[in-house]
Amino acid sequence: MKHWVAAVASVVAFSVASIAEVNKVETVSKDVYFHEGDIGRKGHCNNGWVVFKDYVLVIDANFPSGADEVIPKIRAITDKPIRFVFDTHHHGDHAYGNEVFVKQGAVPVAHEGVLEMFKKFEPKRWDDTAKGRKDVAASKVKAPTLLFRRDLVFDDGEHRLELLHFGVAHTEGDGFAWMPKEKILFTGDAAVNGAYNFAGDGNILQWINTLAAVQKLGAEKICPGHGPMGGPEILEDQRNYFVAVRDGVKAWKDAGKSAADVKAASKDLKESIRKNDRLARYIGGSFEAHVEKVWTELGGEAFAK
Ligand SMILES: [Zn+2]
Repeated sequence: MKHWVAAVASVVAFSVASIAEVNKVETVSKDVYFHEGDIGRKGHCNNGWVVFKDYVLVIDANFPSGADEVIPKIRAITDKPIRFVFDTHHHGDHAYGNEVFVKQGAVPVAHEGVLEMFKKFEPKRWDDTAKGRKDVAASKVKAPTLLFRRDLVFDDGEHRLELLHFGVAHTEGDGFAWMPKEKILFTGDAAVNGAYNFAGDGNILQWINTLAAVQKLGAEKICPGHGPMGGPEILEDQRNYFVAVRDGVKAWKDAGKSAADVKAASKDLKESIRKNDRLARYIGGSFEAHVEKVWTELGGEAFAK
């Protein structure tokens, strides 16, 4: 199976334009912060954090070097203890920094599907990643230990943050952090803002339905797993990108095309989706992998390599 790190590397070339915006703390709302990670040079994910009355909750543990990047920035804002770090899913760029946060006194929190994925893939992926990353080699794999099935709520009277699971999307354990009063949503990689989609551990057909359920929250500010923050158009465009891929591939399936035909035709679908201004930013090096994923989900055979 294609490794998720390779997929991240393949989209790096498309993220150059956003590099100037990364590594800056942005205030989303009072006590709520967003930090766009440097995926292009460091492979980092985005982070968020919420300063509650008595503690800080961080959204995503990032890679260890990403954790080291944001912890001093959190410390510059508040001296309240970092009590919780929420892994939106199991991938290394979102969860391998867990041990760094545990050393700060935090508890890693996640949907129970994240623990399942740790059991399935680790420590193999960690060991593979450690070969190419010094920060991972110098740290230790640490699975989340506080788990939820449907939701977990943090509410101190001033801020309310709900960790929610809506079903399979980017992975089998995607969690969202929702702040109903401020209408802010942290999505992890279930919604990204740029060509950062990796579909290898998820299910694109279910992803489309999961995002439709997420849209019903009515979020006004979206903090994605990668790429800059924005409004509800991120959820809409992310979903419509996958709908466009699905519709294209399904038409070929219904027409009885072979895997070889579909592989060859994927370039045409790519160019036709690229013509849509709202969806063009989702097109990257993983496009053919997305086509193949939908094709296999519809019962087609894997593409010949
Ligand atoms: Zn990611």
